[in-house]
Amino acid sequence: MAMVIEAAYADGTGVANALRMSQVQWHELQRNYRVGDLQMPCCSAPAVPKVSANGYPFFAHLGGACTTSEESQWHLAAKILVRSVLEDLGCRASVEMPGSGDAGRWQADVWGERNGVRLAVEIQRSYQSLRDYRKRQGRYSDEGVKSLWLLGQERYSTLAKSMGKERLRTEFGGKFPPGGHFGPCLPDLPVAMLELEPVPTIKGAGFFTATLPDLLEAVLSNRFLCIDGLWCINNLDSMSSAAKRSHELAAAKRVAANT
Ligand SMILES: [Zn+2]
Repeated sequence: MAMVIEAAYADGTGVANALRMSQVQWHELQRNYRVGDLQMPCCSAPAVPKVSANGYPFFAHLGGACTTSEESQWHLAAKILVRSVLEDLGCRASVEMPGSGDAGRWQADVWGERNGVRLAVEIQRSYQSLRDYRKRQGRYSDEGVKSLWLLGQERYSTLAKSMGKERLRTEFGGKFPPGGHFGPCLPDLPVAMLELEPVPTIKGAGFFTATLPDLLEAVLSNRFLCIDGLWCINNLDSMSSAAKRSHELAAAKRVAANT
Protein backbone atom coordinates (compact mmCIF):
# COMPACT_ATOMS: atom_id res chain seq x y z
CA MET A 1 0.00 0.00 0.00
CA ALA A 2 1.61 3.27 -1.05
CA MET A 3 1.50 5.95 1.59
CA VAL A 4 -0.26 9.03 0.33
CA ILE A 5 0.33 12.37 2.06
CA GLU A 6 -2.68 14.34 0.88
CA ALA A 7 -6.44 13.89 1.23
CA ALA A 8 -9.28 16.20 0.20
CA TYR A 9 -12.01 17.46 2.48
CA ALA A 10 -15.31 15.99 1.28
CA ASP A 11 -17.06 19.34 1.72
CA GLY A 12 -14.80 20.90 -0.92
CA THR A 13 -12.96 23.20 1.48
CA GLY A 14 -9.50 22.07 0.37
CA VAL A 15 -6.95 19.45 1.28
CA ALA A 16 -5.01 18.23 4.27
CA ASN A 17 -1.35 17.70 3.36
CA ALA A 18 0.99 15.97 5.79
CA LEU A 19 4.01 17.93 4.52
CA ARG A 20 2.34 21.19 5.51
CA MET A 21 1.30 20.14 9.00
CA SER A 22 3.23 20.07 12.26
CA GLN A 23 3.22 16.95 14.40
CA VAL A 24 0.82 18.69 16.76
CA GLN A 25 -1.56 19.57 13.92
CA TRP A 26 -1.41 16.01 12.61
CA HIS A 27 -2.26 14.53 16.02
CA GLU A 28 -5.07 17.03 16.30
CA LEU A 29 -6.42 15.88 12.94
CA GLN A 30 -6.15 12.25 14.08
CA ARG A 31 -8.18 13.04 17.19
CA ASN A 32 -10.81 15.25 15.60
CA TYR A 33 -11.57 13.94 12.10
CA ARG A 34 -14.80 12.09 11.49
CA VAL A 35 -15.06 9.19 9.03
CA GLY A 36 -15.99 10.68 5.67
CA ASP A 37 -14.51 14.13 6.38
CA LEU A 38 -11.51 13.29 4.22
CA GLN A 39 -11.29 11.37 0.94
CA MET A 40 -8.48 9.34 -0.58
CA PRO A 41 -7.19 10.85 -3.84
CA CYS A 42 -7.22 7.47 -5.62
CA CYS A 43 -10.83 6.37 -5.13
CA SER A 44 -12.59 8.89 -2.87
CA ALA A 45 -12.92 6.29 -0.12
CA PRO A 46 -12.84 7.67 3.44
CA ALA A 47 -9.25 8.59 4.38
CA VAL A 48 -7.84 7.93 7.84
CA PRO A 49 -4.87 10.01 9.06
CA LYS A 50 -2.19 7.71 10.48
CA VAL A 51 1.45 7.69 11.54
CA SER A 52 3.72 4.91 10.24
CA ALA A 53 6.03 2.86 12.47
CA ASN A 54 8.81 5.26 11.37
CA GLY A 55 6.87 8.30 12.46
CA TYR A 56 5.84 9.31 8.94
CA PRO A 57 2.31 10.76 8.66
CA PHE A 58 0.08 9.42 5.88
CA PHE A 59 -3.50 8.71 4.90
CA ALA A 60 -4.86 5.19 4.71
CA HIS A 61 -8.08 3.77 3.32
CA LEU A 62 -10.72 3.06 5.91
CA GLY A 63 -10.67 -0.73 6.18
CA GLY A 64 -7.69 -0.91 3.79
CA ALA A 65 -9.62 -1.48 0.57
CA CYS A 66 -9.04 0.47 -2.63
CA THR A 67 -10.65 0.01 -6.01
CA THR A 68 -7.58 1.16 -7.94
CA SER A 69 -4.55 -1.04 -8.60
CA GLU A 70 -1.53 -1.05 -6.32
CA GLU A 71 0.49 0.30 -9.26
CA SER A 72 -1.71 3.33 -9.83
CA GLN A 73 -1.91 4.02 -6.09
CA TRP A 74 1.88 4.11 -5.96
CA HIS A 75 2.02 6.36 -9.00
CA LEU A 76 -0.53 8.76 -7.55
CA ALA A 77 1.11 8.85 -4.11
CA ALA A 78 4.45 9.64 -5.80
CA LYS A 79 2.95 12.42 -7.95
CA ILE A 80 1.31 14.07 -4.95
CA LEU A 81 4.56 13.87 -2.98
CA VAL A 82 6.68 15.37 -5.78
CA ARG A 83 4.14 18.14 -6.43
CA SER A 84 4.04 19.00 -2.71
CA VAL A 85 7.84 19.11 -2.43
CA LEU A 86 8.11 21.31 -5.54
CA GLU A 87 5.58 23.70 -4.00
CA ASP A 88 7.65 23.76 -0.81
CA LEU A 89 10.69 24.69 -2.95
CA GLY A 90 8.83 27.72 -4.26
CA CYS A 91 7.55 26.30 -7.53
CA ARG A 92 4.16 26.69 -9.07
CA ALA A 93 3.42 22.98 -9.47
CA SER A 94 0.72 20.75 -10.88
CA VAL A 95 0.16 17.15 -11.92
CA GLU A 96 -0.70 15.76 -15.37
CA MET A 97 0.43 18.88 -17.18
CA PRO A 98 -0.06 18.74 -20.96
CA GLY A 99 2.28 20.55 -23.34
CA SER A 100 3.97 20.24 -26.68
CA GLY A 101 6.99 21.17 -28.74
CA ASP A 102 8.43 20.46 -32.18
CA ALA A 103 9.24 16.88 -31.19
CA GLY A 104 5.72 16.10 -29.99
CA ARG A 105 3.23 16.34 -27.18
CA TRP A 106 3.71 15.45 -23.55
CA GLN A 107 1.73 15.09 -20.40
CA ALA A 108 4.14 15.56 -17.51
CA ASP A 109 3.34 13.58 -14.37
CA VAL A 110 4.41 16.60 -12.34
CA TRP A 111 5.27 20.04 -13.64
CA GLY A 112 7.03 22.79 -11.71
CA GLU A 113 7.95 26.37 -12.60
CA ARG A 114 10.19 28.74 -10.67
CA ASN A 115 11.83 31.95 -11.86
CA GLY A 116 11.46 31.00 -15.50
CA VAL A 117 12.79 27.47 -14.96
CA ARG A 118 10.42 24.77 -16.18
CA LEU A 119 10.74 21.23 -14.84
CA ALA A 120 8.93 18.06 -15.86
CA VAL A 121 9.13 15.09 -13.49
CA GLU A 122 8.14 11.73 -14.93
CA ILE A 123 7.41 8.93 -12.50
CA GLN A 124 7.70 5.47 -13.97
CA ARG A 125 7.07 2.07 -12.52
CA SER A 126 5.87 0.16 -15.57
CA TYR A 127 8.27 -1.06 -18.24
CA GLN A 128 9.46 1.29 -20.96
CA SER A 129 12.29 0.76 -23.45
CA LEU A 130 15.40 2.94 -23.35
CA ARG A 131 14.41 4.20 -26.77
CA ASP A 132 11.05 5.41 -25.44
CA TYR A 133 12.67 7.07 -22.43
CA ARG A 134 14.93 8.96 -24.81
CA LYS A 135 12.12 9.85 -27.17
CA ARG A 136 10.00 11.31 -24.39
CA GLN A 137 13.05 12.95 -22.82
CA GLY A 138 13.91 14.60 -26.14
CA ARG A 139 10.55 16.36 -26.27
CA TYR A 140 11.46 18.17 -23.05
CA SER A 141 15.11 18.92 -23.78
CA ASP A 142 14.26 20.23 -27.27
CA GLU A 143 12.03 22.84 -25.63
CA GLY A 144 14.50 23.77 -22.88
CA VAL A 145 12.39 22.07 -20.23
CA LYS A 146 14.41 20.45 -17.45
CA SER A 147 13.38 16.94 -16.65
CA LEU A 148 13.84 14.17 -14.15
CA TRP A 149 12.83 10.53 -14.26
CA LEU A 150 11.93 8.95 -10.93
CA LEU A 151 11.72 5.20 -11.21
CA GLY A 152 10.50 2.43 -8.95
CA GLN A 153 13.22 0.05 -7.78
CA GLU A 154 12.63 -2.70 -10.34
CA ARG A 155 12.28 -0.24 -13.22
CA TYR A 156 15.48 1.50 -12.20
CA SER A 157 17.46 -1.77 -12.26
CA THR A 158 16.09 -2.67 -15.69
CA LEU A 159 16.88 0.76 -17.12
CA ALA A 160 20.34 0.84 -15.52
CA LYS A 161 21.14 -2.42 -17.31
CA SER A 162 19.95 -1.07 -20.67
CA MET A 163 21.84 2.20 -20.18
CA GLY A 164 24.99 0.32 -19.14
CA LYS A 165 24.84 -1.81 -22.28
CA GLU A 166 24.33 1.30 -24.37
CA ARG A 167 27.37 2.99 -22.81
CA LEU A 168 29.44 -0.14 -23.27
CA ARG A 169 28.46 -0.30 -26.93
CA THR A 170 28.76 3.37 -27.85
CA GLU A 171 31.56 4.60 -25.58
CA PHE A 172 33.71 1.59 -24.79
CA GLY A 173 33.53 -0.29 -28.10
CA GLY A 174 31.78 -3.24 -26.44
CA LYS A 175 34.72 -3.96 -24.10
CA PHE A 176 34.55 -3.51 -20.36
CA PRO A 177 36.83 -0.64 -19.30
CA PRO A 178 39.89 -1.52 -17.20
CA GLY A 179 38.81 -2.40 -13.68
CA GLY A 180 35.45 -3.62 -14.92
CA HIS A 181 33.42 -1.04 -13.00
CA PHE A 182 31.76 1.80 -14.79
CA GLY A 183 28.73 3.99 -14.16
CA PRO A 184 25.78 2.92 -16.28
CA CYS A 185 23.98 6.26 -16.60
CA LEU A 186 23.60 8.39 -19.70
CA PRO A 187 24.02 12.16 -19.52
CA ASP A 188 20.91 12.80 -21.63
CA LEU A 189 18.63 10.95 -19.21
CA PRO A 190 18.49 12.42 -15.69
CA VAL A 191 17.25 9.54 -13.56
CA ALA A 192 17.03 8.37 -9.96
CA MET A 193 15.23 5.66 -8.00
CA LEU A 194 12.30 6.63 -5.81
CA GLU A 195 11.17 4.45 -2.94
CA LEU A 196 8.07 5.54 -1.06
CA GLU A 197 8.33 3.13 1.82
CA PRO A 198 9.04 2.94 4.64
CA VAL A 199 9.92 6.61 4.10
CA PRO A 200 10.44 8.46 0.80
CA THR A 201 14.01 7.85 -0.32
CA ILE A 202 16.06 8.64 -3.41
CA LYS A 203 18.78 6.26 -4.53
CA GLY A 204 20.77 5.63 -7.66
CA ALA A 205 23.66 3.84 -9.31
CA GLY A 206 27.05 4.14 -7.61
CA PHE A 207 25.54 4.48 -4.12
CA PHE A 208 23.82 7.77 -4.88
CA THR A 209 21.45 8.83 -2.11
CA ALA A 210 19.57 12.07 -1.50
CA THR A 211 16.39 13.36 0.02
CA LEU A 212 13.65 14.18 -2.46
CA PRO A 213 13.78 17.94 -1.67
CA ASP A 214 17.57 17.99 -2.12
CA LEU A 215 17.32 16.16 -5.44
CA LEU A 216 14.56 18.40 -6.83
CA GLU A 217 16.36 21.56 -5.70
CA ALA A 218 19.54 20.28 -7.38
CA VAL A 219 17.69 19.62 -10.64
CA LEU A 220 16.09 23.08 -10.57
CA SER A 221 19.45 24.75 -9.97
CA ASN A 222 21.56 22.71 -12.44
CA ARG A 223 23.45 20.81 -9.75
CA PHE A 224 22.24 17.30 -10.60
CA LEU A 225 25.08 16.13 -12.83
CA CYS A 226 26.07 12.99 -14.69
CA ILE A 227 29.76 12.35 -14.01
CA ASP A 228 31.37 9.25 -15.53
CA GLY A 229 28.05 7.49 -15.84
CA LEU A 230 26.77 8.36 -12.37
CA TRP A 231 24.14 10.95 -11.54
CA CYS A 232 25.12 12.84 -8.40
CA ILE A 233 24.67 16.16 -6.64
CA ASN A 234 27.84 17.05 -4.76
CA ASN A 235 28.29 13.69 -3.15
CA LEU A 236 30.54 11.86 -5.61
CA ASP A 237 33.26 11.50 -2.94
CA SER A 238 30.95 9.94 -0.38
CA MET A 239 29.45 7.77 -3.12
CA SER A 240 32.85 6.40 -4.09
CA SER A 241 33.84 5.73 -0.51
CA ALA A 242 30.52 3.90 0.00
CA ALA A 243 31.28 1.87 -3.14
CA LYS A 244 34.81 1.14 -1.85
CA ARG A 245 33.46 0.01 1.53
CA SER A 246 30.96 -2.24 -0.17
CA HIS A 247 33.59 -3.82 -2.42
CA GLU A 248 35.86 -4.40 0.57
CA LEU A 249 33.00 -5.94 2.51
CA ALA A 250 32.16 -8.24 -0.42
CA ALA A 251 35.82 -9.21 -0.74
CA ALA A 252 36.05 -9.93 3.00
CA LYS A 253 32.92 -12.09 2.77
CA ARG A 254 34.43 -14.03 -0.13
CA VAL A 255 37.59 -14.64 1.90
CA ALA A 256 35.53 -15.71 4.91
CA ALA A 257 33.46 -18.06 2.76
CA ASN A 258 36.62 -19.71 1.41
CA THR A 259 38.27 -20.41 4.75
ZN1 LIG B 1 -8.11 4.27 -3.05
